[in-house]
This record gives sequence, structure tokens and C-alpha cells, in this order.
Amino acid sequence: MSAVVLSVALSASASADMFKPSKAEQMKLGKQAAAEVRKKEKVLPDSDPRVQLVKRVGRRILSTFSEKEQPWEYSFDVIESKEVNAFALPGGPVFFYTGLLEKFKYEDELAAVMAHEITHVRREHWAYSQRDANKANVLLLGLSLFGGRRDVLSATDLLATFYSLKYSRQHENQADSMGFDMLVAANYNPDGMVLLFETLKQSSKGGKPPEFLSSHPDDGNRIRNAKTKIEKSPKEFPALTKINL
Ligand SMILES: [Zn+2]
Repeated sequence: MSAVVLSVALSASASADMFKPSKAEQMKLGKQAAAEVRKKEKVLPDSDPRVQLVKRVGRRILSTFSEKEQPWEYSFDVIESKEVNAFALPGGPVFFYTGLLEKFKYEDELAAVMAHEITHVRREHWAYSQRDANKANVLLLGLSLFGGRRDVLSATDLLATFYSLKYSRQHENQADSMGFDMLVAANYNPDGMVLLFETLKQSSKGGKPPEFLSSHPDDGNRIRNAKTKIEKSPKEFPALTKINL
């Protein structure tokens, strides 16, 4: 590695977030990428009861956030597909597949996924992964940090890598843990989270695991963590809410 590259990399690390896409960039990219997803995939209309359900659950969780919880712009869509999955793009667009919705008996399970995905947005997990990738590129290739090189990422680039993106275990744990708290704050029954993990474990047998399991197939830890949090919680939880579609 040349001394120039090294010194650029070192001085760059002095300003901690220069490699990380800003909140404005995340929202802009996420919005563009969401528009591409809506063009490419079969997205159900707002009149569909499954879309209404997903939007209602999303809004219920968002309603517990403080006013200061900005600047994210959430949107909720349902894609007609057998895929057992859901994902959140940076900045706020959330997509569920009908293949996942079909697995749920209770609204609380859906809410557990929603809370998990929203945590990826709130905690900027994509942006931090991108920051680490940007840093690695600078170290490996000595890419110029000057002349606005960093903002060349397009929505197409984002989507090309997004579907195979694996968040770190630390990010997934945070999404589970904060997601649990959001679930409880929105007055859902967190048994929904336990049921969710059990359901997904069943459905991933022999196939491609859903996003929530893909980065680290559940070894029982996620179920155990949720159960421990339920036991420790002083709150009385409401009954599970059956989905009637
Ligand atoms: Zn996740």
C-alpha cells in the first residue's frame, strides 16, 4: 500500500462518517430503489386487504415513536410472490412478500417482522455496512476520496447488492432486540416474535432461508432471547390478534 493511500485512509478515518451515506442520501436512494421495485415486481393495490393490514401494522408501530424520530419516510408495500421474505430499503420503504404473509396466523407475528425491519432503517444498518465497504475499497484500491466520488452509488447499484446483503450478527441482534421493544410499545403480544421464529424455522427447511434467518440460521438463540425478554418484562401482554383476511 502506498504512503499516499494510507495517509488518505487515516485522515479519512479522523472524520468518522465521511464514508457513510448521509440520511438524505439514504432516503433519496431508498425512494428511487423502491420505485424500481414497484416497476419490476407485482405490487398489490392499496385496496387489497393484505396491503391494508401491512400498512395498519406499520402505522401502529410508527405511532409509538417520538416526534423527534426523523427524518425517515416510511412506505409499506406488498409484493405478490411465493418468496417467504420481507425487507426494508434504506430511508424507510418496507416490502412484504405474500409468501411470508401466508405463513402468519397472528398480526403479532407480522408486527414482529415489521419492527425488525424498521429497526434496520432507524439504526441505518445499510449505511453502516456501506461505510465499511467504502472504507475497505479505499484501503484496497486507493479510490479517490476527492471530487465527489462517493455519491456515485445509484438505486440500481443499491438493488443489485441489496438482495444478497447480509447484515452483521450485531445488526441482526439489534433489530431483534429493539424490534421486541417496539412490538411491546405498540401493545402487541411479543409471543408473536417467538411464533415468527418458529414458523420461519419450519419454512426454511431445505430452502433458501428468509432474510431474518439468512445471515445466521437460528440456533435457538433468537427464540431464547425473545423468551427471556418476555419473562423479564413486567408488562401484561394482550392476547394474540388473529388475522382474518
Ligand atoms: Zn434483519
